[in-house]
Amino acid sequence: MTDERRDMLAANLTSVQKRIADEAAAAGRDPGELTLIVVTKTFPASDVETLASLGVRHFGENRHPEAGDKASALAGLDLVWHFIGHVQSNKAAAIASYADVVHSVDSVRLAHRLGTSAIAHDRVVTCLLQVSLDPPGQGQGRSGVLPDELPELADAVADTDGLRLGGLMGIAPLGGSARPAFELLARCWHELRAQHPDADILSAGMSGDFPEAIRAGATHLRIGSAVVGERPTLG
Ligand SMILES: *Cc1c(COP(=O)(O)O)cnc(C)c1O
Repeated sequence: MTDERRDMLAANLTSVQKRIADEAAAAGRDPGELTLIVVTKTFPASDVETLASLGVRHFGENRHPEAGDKASALAGLDLVWHFIGHVQSNKAAAIASYADVVHSVDSVRLAHRLGTSAIAHDRVVTCLLQVSLDPPGQGQGRSGVLPDELPELADAVADTDGLRLGGLMGIAPLGGSARPAFELLARCWHELRAQHPDADILSAGMSGDFPEAIRAGATHLRIGSAVVGERPTLG
């Protein structure tokens, strides 16, 4: 880790934390209600280590085995690992062995696989249900369930040993406006909490749209590039 990289991470982190605090104040919210998850996908474990030394506890990753490799390399640091990417069914068991929170649960089948593995590893995995926020007829192939499908999936997760139903996650549609999408997500969350009051996590907002997410009521922000810099484009 060069001093230069450390200084850049520290400066970016401070600036993002200040923007979060300002946006929370503008929205009349207590910044203490907001958890910053720094998304470190494609960046090395040394960046995670540096950010941990700067006080970050929550990290987001979207691919297996990269996520698990970092979690095991840094197992001594007592970090909270958030798996935010699509979970392929053949990787669910492995992911449940190290992820503390899975943000992308979108089927009963996946929930059962995660639960079985969580029990085998003597852990509890917090599950967020990913809600599709794409306009009807668009976004086919992206992950997430429709709002109508949430009650059934929520009950299934809540009834699965080894899992805790944590709440909801959403990604604003590409090229669309984040605000109505996050407002829809927040309405789904309020309905969910009427049945499952302990589902207290609303995961929304990335580098480009976290102010809208804070205004809509997000509790967990998934912020990558604003802290760690631009990722090299894949493929
Ligand atoms: C990569 C990613 C993020 C972070 O995106 P940035 O624009 O770099 O902040 C957030 N959520 C998910 C699901 C991601 O895959």
